[in-house]
Amino acid sequence: MVIMNHQMRAETDPTGATDSVVSWHIVRDANLTALCGKELVDGAPVQDATRWTLDPDRNCHTCGALFLRETPYLPDEHTG
Ligand SMILES: [Zn+2]
Repeated sequence: MVIMNHQMRAETDPTGATDSVVSWHIVRDANLTALCGKELVDGAPVQDATRWTLDPDRNCHTCGALFLRETPYLPDEHTG
């Protein structure tokens, strides 16, 4: 079974400042194109996809929906 590796990659301010995160998108592996089709810049902040739920206000809603569809639920998450 192939496990898809997802990462969160930031959409940054048009000025290009990499510390100005406008919103977070999801990319597969090291891709620069988000699941929603947004092109993201190399050098933008990335973080592990497990942090997706930590700051939901800034998440891309389209990426969130697609991410959930691509990510199989782990057996652990089904208990209870
Ligand atoms: Zn997105």
